[in-house]
Amino acid sequence: MNFVIFQDLIPNTTVVKIHRIGCHHYTTHEPTTTTKWHEVEDLKNAKLLAEDISKNSKIGWRFAKCCTIHAKSSLDCDEV
Ligand SMILES: [Zn+2]
Repeated sequence: MNFVIFQDLIPNTTVVKIHRIGCHHYTTHEPTTTTKWHEVEDLKNAKLLAEDISKNSKIGWRFAKCCTIHAKSSLDCDEV
């Protein structure tokens, strides 16, 4: 069970988002100098890292809508 976290390196531009590693947003993304993807082992680490990455941001983090349903059903995570 792996996840990826999307980070926009320009502060306060785009909310930090957690996706599943198989999400098309991740598998088809074009590398850019202003965005970064972090791969993490599991949902716990994904949340910790998302919180850490976004702690200096005004807009925080959330689960990507495209991946939220999958995260809920396969991980039984009621914090989503
Ligand atoms: Zn996604």
